[in-house]
Amino acid sequence: MDIFSNLFVFVLATFLGLDVIRRVSPLLHTPLMSLTNAISAISLVGALLVLGERHGAAENPLIVAMATLAVAAAMTNVVSGYLITDRMLKMFKRREPSPAAAAVLVPIGMLAVTLPGATGAAGGSVPPFTQASYLIATGLFVMSLKWLSAPTTARRGVIAGEAGMALAVLGTLIQPQIQSYQWIVVGMVVGTVAGLPLALLMPMTAVPQRTALSHSFGGLAVGLIGTCKYLLAMEAGGLATGAIDHFRMGVIGFEVLLGSLTFTGSLMAFGKLQEVLPQRPIVYRGQNVMNIGMLVTAALLGVYVTAQPVPGTEWAYFGIVALALIFGVSLIIPIGGADMPTVISLLNSYAGLAASAMGFVLDNKMLIVAGALDGSSGLILSIIMCKAMNRSFANVLFGAFGQVQAGAAVAGEQRTVRSASPEEAASILTSAGSVVIVPGYGMAVAQAQHKVRELYDMLTRKGVDVKFAVHPVAGRMPGHMNVLLAEADIPYDRLVEMDDINGEFPQTDVALVIGANDVTNPAARNDRTSPIYGMPILDVDRARTVMVIKRSMSSGFAGIDNELYFMDRTLMLFGDAKGFVSEIVKEAASGGH
Ligand code: NAP
Repeated sequence: MDIFSNLFVFVLATFLGLDVIRRVSPLLHTPLMSLTNAISAISLVGALLVLGERHGAAENPLIVAMATLAVAAAMTNVVSGYLITDRMLKMFKRREPSPAAAAVLVPIGMLAVTLPGATGAAGGSVPPFTQASYLIATGLFVMSLKWLSAPTTARRGVIAGEAGMALAVLGTLIQPQIQSYQWIVVGMVVGTVAGLPLALLMPMTAVPQRTALSHSFGGLAVGLIGTCKYLLAMEAGGLATGAIDHFRMGVIGFEVLLGSLTFTGSLMAFGKLQEVLPQRPIVYRGQNVMNIGMLVTAALLGVYVTAQPVPGTEWAYFGIVALALIFGVSLIIPIGGADMPTVISLLNSYAGLAASAMGFVLDNKMLIVAGALDGSSGLILSIIMCKAMNRSFANVLFGAFGQVQAGAAVAGEQRTVRSASPEEAASILTSAGSVVIVPGYGMAVAQAQHKVRELYDMLTRKGVDVKFAVHPVAGRMPGHMNVLLAEADIPYDRLVEMDDINGEFPQTDVALVIGANDVTNPAARNDRTSPIYGMPILDVDRARTVMVIKRSMSSGFAGIDNELYFMDRTLMLFGDAKGFVSEIVKEAASGGH
């Protein structure tokens, strides 16, 4: 194994990934998350190798069971990741038909696999046809992310990713080393059956939860494959027989540590986003000391098994696994629900790193590259989110955000606000010259995007200039609002990013806030004591009239009061976003406003 060239590839792929992903339009950040998630399911290749290489006769049922589960988990991510990305992108109207790309890419891929195979170029550890398929797949993964950077080419990006994955899997399956297919088929069928509903039946509002769940499967697959590799090496005598060396043992330890903590950490993030676990941070005294203690102990055990990769030290190996699993839980419970999107993005990065580590163990550069791309994507998205909230990583991970201020909104209930009916709102909107609609998480929850589209159509017909102001962290995922507005067919050129629209608010007649709260809170600008102070916001308070649709005076996800609601120029439109918008449209249509 050439450690240096693998490291070289890893570093290069990370920089390439950082550069390519930096260029992805914010509009496409949510599809980017699911696409990189699907690409990092390349760990499927590792699982297939472990399962097919020597366990045809089911010699060790534990390893066969673990590897089958790993195939199923990774396959679930492949199927659900690509399908849901495609489902999201179909919502963005594109000028370029993607089937044309498929028509070129897929046959090229197939040819690369089958031609050298047909010429009988097998033998050696990795046959040339497999090498060729891995090489092309690696290129396709990079192109896939590059194409995802613009809405016009984004679907071509998904097809390239799918073709890359199909190639990688085919190239693996037709290797002569793969001796048995029965458990592979079982794992792949189970993964496909689990992945289909995750991609096709999940509502778009549940995309953050789905992503968290996928990271969890990704972590599980990587952890299981690392463990299989370790057990196989121990069965074969460990260091003494050359079944493993110190470097590979160290990397397996790292891979399993990251995989296991990503597995349980992402499950906790899923629970918080799905609201089956409490959203508030759960904190106790000495929590950070305990967490760091666990991590250090796991690292020390890692050093021990790396120095002694011999049978008899399994207790230390499984100690690492157990500590990492517990660490994943204890890392996430003190983090508030509001920070889960940043956390899942970070976990995405860990899952990518773990997949890369697997590439080092298997000496497979395609895995190294795909993992590095995923790692960079997760890192960039977390940085973007932290910047948009004016927070640091440390503050997100250890700040217990969302806990201290939880009661603040109650005080606000005593103060008076002005409210208006759908009829009044319709009248104000139809007599305005310019309206800026500001969607937020409440629009997603209410699934109000189609009604908002009706409102947009109606106002535009009446000659009102309507724009949409999109905050980078409105909703629960970067680009969340873009996906929903695209689903409702709102033209992109009406969507304006925060920095561009903020200068326009003073000349805007009406800012209509639909289910957004934190991203419009002037405290971020004015109140140094506010936890969101410094977070860039949409300056809706500078518009001539502000109307806010929400159900009550409750706070947003940051758990803090919003001064906007008490301003003289603000009218509260209390109700469910979908119901209220639909009332406005009805009133405007029937009242002849
Ligand atoms: P928000 O501050 O969470 O506020 C959403 C508002 O929607 C709530 O105040 C709620 O008020 C209202 N709402 C809920 N259901 C509704 C319904 N059915 N109809 C009408 N209104 C409804 O949302 P945001 O302004 O979009 O801000 C996003 C928050 O998430 C920020 O704090 C941001 O930092 C955080 N975050 C986002 C990301 C990301 O990537 N997008 C990442 C990390 C953190 P009622 O209960 O009164 O209706």
